[in-house]
Amino acid sequence: MRRLEGKTVLATASGAGIGRATALRMAAEGARVVATDIDEAALGTLEGVETRRLDVTDRAAVEAIVAEIGRIDALFNCAGFVHAGTILDATEEEWAFGLELNVTSMFRTIRAVLPGMLERGAGSIVNMSSVAGPVTGPPGRAVYSATKAAVAGLTRAVARDVVDRGVRCNAICPGTVESPSLDQRIEAMGATLEGGVEAARAAFLARQPMGRLGRPEEIASLAAYLASDESAFTTGALHVIDGGWTV
Ligand code: NAD
Repeated sequence: MRRLEGKTVLATASGAGIGRATALRMAAEGARVVATDIDEAALGTLEGVETRRLDVTDRAAVEAIVAEIGRIDALFNCAGFVHAGTILDATEEEWAFGLELNVTSMFRTIRAVLPGMLERGAGSIVNMSSVAGPVTGPPGRAVYSATKAAVAGLTRAVARDVVDRGVRCNAICPGTVESPSLDQRIEAMGATLEGGVEAARAAFLARQPMGRLGRPEEIASLAAYLASDESAFTTGALHVIDGGWTV
């Protein structure tokens, strides 16, 4: 079933991981996907989508790309990064950067896209949150959890304000998902553990009752559903997809 036929999607952080799988999935579902990232080399390996360099921390660039695309039916806000550490490990600069990349970027893209959606009385905004923050509090994720909880709050606020105007806004809250940045986190954690990388991977797996991590394609499927009209009756919701981690 091609659920996104005739729709135009603007997606961020499409170069790797969940963002990449989602851009490809949305294109396979019939959408015109404008896939963006700061990593132009990674964008160059994507097929079946239009690609543009976009740094989501650059407000002028966000506004320019939205103006260039014109009608945007769905916005997929995927850009975000994990700061590893407790609050005592984080500097003011890291805190500010976490808010900037994980939250303020979404403030910006939504402000740029929403007026057009309201004018047309239709649109779907999908924000990437996490179970870390809005649902649970894993150790060593102070900055990350705070930013992802802020994404959840922003999602609800936007959804509530436009609920009667044809525009929806939902959040995806994944558990741990295979991705290049997860590999880096496992490697970094492995350097601090006796058992090395194997022990670090085992620690991530230990909190998964299904015995495995998520796959980017599984998150992409949910994102495509939320962008499509099939999900017309859901808004302001936090869609948990974590393999039972937080059950
Ligand atoms: P990733 O971290 O491996 O890749 C992120 C992508 O974002 C890269 O292609 C990178 O170039 C791009 N990027 C970085 N800074 C950018 C900027 N300023 N502007 C535009 N693009 C930028 O991907 P991932 O692990 O799949 O994470 C994607 C999203 O999903 C993030 O918001 C992350 O917090 C969230 N998430 C991931 C997991 C997980 O376990 N992987 C779990 C829950 C939530």
